[in-house]
Amino acid sequence: MSSAHPEDARARLADDTRLECRICWYLYDPAEGDDTQQIPPGTPFLGLPDHWRCPQCDAEPNAFLPAED
Ligand SMILES: [Zn+2]
Repeated sequence: MSSAHPEDARARLADDTRLECRICWYLYDPAEGDDTQQIPPGTPFLGLPDHWRCPQCDAEPNAFLPAED
């Protein structure tokens, strides 16, 4: 059983929260989705498939942090 860290920031994400890759600074915007991986616009970060990776540097989703506005 692999439980996430209780303090995992992703647990507090809203559906429209944008996340930034902390490795390459790619910004995932739920309003835009990710057309390189067939993610339709309107897909929240938590709705991304398990195999989704940063389209720029191939980082796993846990490398992403909520972007500050
Ligand atoms: Zn990246």
